[in-house]
Amino acid sequence: MEKVKSPKGGAKRKLRAHFLANIGRVMDSDELRAVADNQSEWARRVRELRTEEGYLILTHNDRSDLKPGQYLLETPKPQPAFARAISKETRAFVLDRNGFTCQMCGAVAGEPHPYEPSRKTRLHLGHVIDKSMGGTDDPSNLRAICSVCNEGASNATLTRPDLQKLLIQIRRATSQDQLEVLQWLLKKFPKQSADFLKP
Ligand SMILES: [Zn+2]
Repeated sequence: MEKVKSPKGGAKRKLRAHFLANIGRVMDSDELRAVADNQSEWARRVRELRTEEGYLILTHNDRSDLKPGQYLLETPKPQPAFARAISKETRAFVLDRNGFTCQMCGAVAGEPHPYEPSRKTRLHLGHVIDKSMGGTDDPSNLRAICSVCNEGASNATLTRPDLQKLLIQIRRATSQDQLEVLQWLLKKFPKQSADFLKP
């Protein structure tokens, strides 16, 4: 294949047009590299379409039926600007405050999703009070939500467990799992842990 440099911005424009002309079709890296005139930075341009322009370009990190190197644009509608306008600092602050844990189902970032184990948990920021209802982008109105809950897949079935049921589940768990719970709690509540352990 002949290597032609396109003018600045050309690769991204071509990739955007190609994705929009192929909604719902899985494409691999060879195809996208060719669309971008074999520019070595084609993957970065795809990332920019995702992070800067809000196009929901999915990869194997988002969907288990996609292989590494496969890409899929499911919908032509980019995420609204406000969903992207939240600063990196705010995002980091909210995720840290929420312990990198989905506030709806308890899934932890980077771990297999408890309800869809083939998917790695990715966290987004969700609004507690929706923007359409007057909610703001203030950290107090933001919370970590995983992609599964974000898609509404687990809304209906997941309620916060009551204390008694939770304790029963933990008592029935293997010692190994109980130790994991202990570790997680110690890490989450360092100050209280120290108080409990005082002689
Ligand atoms: Zn979730």
